[in-house]
Amino acid sequence: MNNNTYPFVLPPLPYAYDALEPFIDSETMHCHHDKHFAAYITKLNTALERYPNLQKYTLEQLLTYQNTIPETVKTAVVNNGGGVYNHFLFFNNLSPASESNHQPSGSLSEAIKIKFGSFDNFRKEFTAAALDIFGSGWVCLGNEGITGLQILKLKNQETALDFDAKPIILFDVWEHAYYLKYKNERERYVNALWNIIKF
Ligand code: MN
Repeated sequence: MNNNTYPFVLPPLPYAYDALEPFIDSETMHCHHDKHFAAYITKLNTALERYPNLQKYTLEQLLTYQNTIPETVKTAVVNNGGGVYNHFLFFNNLSPASESNHQPSGSLSEAIKIKFGSFDNFRKEFTAAALDIFGSGWVCLGNEGITGLQILKLKNQETALDFDAKPIILFDVWEHAYYLKYKNERERYVNALWNIIKF
């Protein structure tokens, strides 16, 4: 998706809608993927429709070189492009709880231990950041060249690219991601995500 260009197409979920039950329910997945994610794609395409010069850029290039986008369409491209970028990564970084890939391994596991002391400590800090976000946004583990691993708090549809970082995992803490099942209890939703996050 990050290297795709206009017109962008909604990618299917890489698993069944009910595959993440009971942590994320099928109704939320339908609404989140088929309505919210799809709307970001449609709106990004609409924004780019009358700008053939922008249509040759990949999604990642559009988000990285925002200053080259005409002011008339910049907000629409950045907001909706960020929504596409974040949601693609989010849905692709989840997997059924029965799979055995919910803990980091190899060099990422080592880097997390060095930076945060332990995986448990990383998990605590990441969860606290997710609960601390005021309003809509994301929490992301990003890898930034010089400083290494960072927990990033993203507002609305900011992306790790805005922090010159490469995203590794991210949690969607917009209410649309959890309200049907968890209502106002963001903490229960965030804790549930650790069972299905894919490293
Ligand atoms: Mn979302």
